[in-house]
Amino acid sequence: DSLVRATADEPERAAEAALRPRRLDEFVGQRVVRDQLSLVLEAALGRGRAPDHVLLSGPPGLGKTTLAMIIAAELGTSLRVTSGPAIQHAGDLAAVLSSLEEGEVLFIDEIHRLARPAEELLYVAMEDFRVDVVVGKGAGASAIPLSLPPFTVVGATTRAGLLPAPLRDRFGFTGHLDFYADDELERVLVRSAGLLDVPLDADAAAEIASRSRGTPRIANRLLRRVRDWAQVRGDGHLHLPAARAALEVYEVDQRGLDRLDRAVLDALCRRFGGGPVGLTTLAVAVGEEPETVETVAEPFLVREGLVGRTPRGRVALAPAWEHLGLEVPLPGGT
Ligand code: ADP
Repeated sequence: DSLVRATADEPERAAEAALRPRRLDEFVGQRVVRDQLSLVLEAALGRGRAPDHVLLSGPPGLGKTTLAMIIAAELGTSLRVTSGPAIQHAGDLAAVLSSLEEGEVLFIDEIHRLARPAEELLYVAMEDFRVDVVVGKGAGASAIPLSLPPFTVVGATTRAGLLPAPLRDRFGFTGHLDFYADDELERVLVRSAGLLDVPLDADAAAEIASRSRGTPRIANRLLRRVRDWAQVRGDGHLHLPAARAALEVYEVDQRGLDRLDRAVLDALCRRFGGGPVGLTTLAVAVGEEPETVETVAEPFLVREGLVGRTPRGRVALAPAWEHLGLEVPLPGGT
């Protein structure tokens, strides 16, 4: 589906995996979440028990999957991975849960997209470490409780607000990941360049960081594109002119906005006169799913002060018009 398409394909996934920090102290930025998580983990290790379930929320590419892997690594256990959309029936989830070994970490990506029956099964499993296996059919059916060894669920969601309260309440710890500052992204880039063994100048790192939408996944992706440029059209060295030239080729603008971001701004200003316009209408105008617009493009546009959310819909703020080179309409104007 379009959300998956917009965030990762196979070679990109492999390239990403190679750059993932493995331990908490390699994880750049997010100091608050890192501190809190390290306490949760250390305390659990000290007690020799599985820690509370962990919910991680935030826009795509900020490190939720990476943190889930780190949690398992720090606990010295293995990670099992699934996702809300991958679980079609409650039975699929029951099968995953009943195969867990003691102390394992179960990562459920896009947990807000679990179907209701699976969600209900999950509450019980998280709370009581039990699944009810239904045997037989119709009037003769009965539920046999199957107890599970203690385990830890790490849930990830781009929209914590969408999680039903009973599910949210089963998580003992919730970490909110926010966009990264430019200097943090520079550290991500320097680390990645080291792993990729490419020479990256400090000013080139700063340039890439400033155009990465506050997102490590994008920073790493742009780094690979700059490396391609340097290899094919440059001298292999990642200096500032190479970074600028490559970013120009890939149409990443000064603010780091990409094609989808610009399409959203463009539709908002030119087609809808600055709004307010509903999310669904806006998504149709740019040919994307509403969820993609809401979770991939919008959080950054809102943070940058380009787009506002009002009860009547999305509106373009003055910097959006300026960014498109359009005149900012007067308030209450035609
Ligand atoms: P999410 O699950 O939130 O979409 P990921 O955990 O898959 O994001 O992270 C995307 C990529 O960004 C990973 O390959 C990882 O290398 C990189 N990354 C994310 N957060 C950090 C961080 N804090 N430090 C270094 N690299 C990071």
